[in-house]
Amino acid sequence: MSIHPIVVYGEPVLHRRAERVTEFDDELRTLVADMYETLAVSNGVGLAAPQIGVGKQIFVYDADDEDARVRRRGVFINPVLVGSKVPEGRPDPETESEGCLSVPALDFPLKRSQKVTITGVDENGETVSLAVTGWFARIMQHEYDHLQGTLYVDRLQDKWKRRWKRAQKAEGYDVPGQSWMPGVDPDPFGHDLDTAED
Ligand SMILES: [Zn+2]
Repeated sequence: MSIHPIVVYGEPVLHRRAERVTEFDDELRTLVADMYETLAVSNGVGLAAPQIGVGKQIFVYDADDEDARVRRRGVFINPVLVGSKVPEGRPDPETESEGCLSVPALDFPLKRSQKVTITGVDENGETVSLAVTGWFARIMQHEYDHLQGTLYVDRLQDKWKRRWKRAQKAEGYDVPGQSWMPGVDPDPFGHDLDTAED
C-alpha cells in the first residue's frame, strides 16, 4: 500500500465527472487500500479518487456517525445518492461548516440535505448501501459531489462564495498542478479542528 499526494482545487481531474468503474480486479483493490491509508494519514473523514488524481467513481469514508452512535468505515464505487430537500435559509458557520482536503486550510458553511440514502458497490462488486442523517449525510453528499466534479466551494451561497473567491486568489487555488503530501507536508487543517476535512 502507499500514500498518495492530494491534488488541490484547479486540478482538472477534480472538476470533471469521474468515470464508472468496470473492472473489479486486484488493481482496484490496491487503489481502494491506498485510499484508506491516504485518508487515515490525512486526518480526513472521506476521500474521493479524483482527489488523488484518479478520475474514477470511488470514495472511502471513515468517521463517527453521531446520530447512529457508530463509527462507519467503507467504500462506495459507482454510487447513486438520493437526498432530502436541502433546507432553505442561511447556513450556520458554527454547525454547518465544511472543509475539503483539496481546498487546504479553508472552511465555509453550506446547507446540505439532512437525510440521504446512498447505494453502490464495494471493491469486490458487492452491493453496499447506507441511510444516514445529519453530519454523516453531509459527508456522503460531499464525497458524492466529488465524483460529479463538484467541490463544496462550488455550492456556496453568495456571501460565502465571495469570501471563497478572495481566498482562492490569495491561496493560489486557481491553477492546476498543485498537491500536498499527507504525513509529509504540514497538516493543512491542524489536528484540533472539529469540522470535517474530507
Ligand atoms: Zn473534499
